[in-house]
Amino acid sequence: MTEEEILTIKSNIANIRSRMDLATQKAGRDPKDITLLAATKMNSAERVQAAIRCGIRCCGENKVQELLDKYELNAYEGADLQFIGTLQTNKVKYLIGKVSLIQSVGSIHLGEVIAREAAKRNTVQDILIEVNIGLEEAKSGILPQELFSCIEELSALSSLRIRGLMAIPPVADANTGNTAYFQQMQRLYEELKSRDYPNVKADTLSMGMTDDFEDAIACGSTMIRLGTAVFGRRNYGSAEV
Ligand SMILES: *Cc1c(COP(=O)(O)O)cnc(C)c1O
Repeated sequence: MTEEEILTIKSNIANIRSRMDLATQKAGRDPKDITLLAATKMNSAERVQAAIRCGIRCCGENKVQELLDKYELNAYEGADLQFIGTLQTNKVKYLIGKVSLIQSVGSIHLGEVIAREAAKRNTVQDILIEVNIGLEEAKSGILPQELFSCIEELSALSSLRIRGLMAIPPVADANTGNTAYFQQMQRLYEELKSRDYPNVKADTLSMGMTDDFEDAIACGSTMIRLGTAVFGRRNYGSAEV
């Protein structure tokens, strides 16, 4: 990694911080109430470490194998590690004990498997419920109309702690953006906070990516997940870890 690449990441993060300041100011919110998670997929352990040295305190990985490979290389040292990608049930066991939060629980079955693996290790796993807010056929996540029955079932499992909701809205329409989806998520999140379930401690609404995080902040997001804005465009041609 060159000095220039490190400086680029550093200025990217400074730029994000000032955009967060502006967006929170507009929304009458405190920037301290929003976690900046760096979505680290396709970025090498060295690049992840560079971002952490530039102040990133929370990393999100998408693929279990990539996470394990980089974990071996101490890529995430100095930061909190979370899982944000599609998760196959047979790989859950590799994550327990390594990630503080599994953000992408999009089915009751997956939640049950996580609960079982966590119980085996005598631990409680924090999770977010992923909501398929755009009602997209091809996307995982719980449909909004099924959210509270899903939470009711999973809240019975004491080796899980539900910390809130996560969403990846559809690719935004250039004119309207994703604000309507973010507002729906905000309503669901407020509803969740107003209800009283066991094993639920809702303090996280994870939404907003590189192209729309200011809108997400305006709609109450408490965690934005940024890849491109932190690291620059991902090079899908290289498989370097
Ligand atoms: C890659 C990814 C992000 C970040 O995407 P950018 O548009 O690069 O900021 C956020 N969330 C999830 C789940 C991702 O996979």
